[in-house]
Amino acid sequence: MVINNQFPFKVKINNISLIVTEKIMFVKKEILLPKFGRSFPEHGFVIVREDLPETLKKFVLKHELFHLTDKRKNWFIREVKANLYAGFFHPIGFIICIFKTIFSFERIKFYIERFKNSE
Ligand SMILES: [Zn+2]
Repeated sequence: MVINNQFPFKVKINNISLIVTEKIMFVKKEILLPKFGRSFPEHGFVIVREDLPETLKKFVLKHELFHLTDKRKNWFIREVKANLYAGFFHPIGFIICIFKTIFSFERIKFYIERFKNSE
């Protein structure tokens, strides 16, 4: 993995500036909504929402860290792989993630858009 930036550096996510000081950071939900976490393989760091329940947080962190090392390009395959990997370590977190997605209009909308845009 090539890391282009040295900590600390500044990025803008959803129009919010964030000072990245380390590989794993827990951030306010406003930066990520409707996502729970996000990985930045080009910069070598991940962010996870700080307000999530502990079990879900662990699952999301494992999921995002997996993305850092995954070389696949197809986002759907990337997501399936990251979910299976993280779910193996944190099955309860995985189940919570599924339920929080099924019952969130914003998240479902987000994934439908992402699916449409990938074609
Ligand atoms: Zn993912």
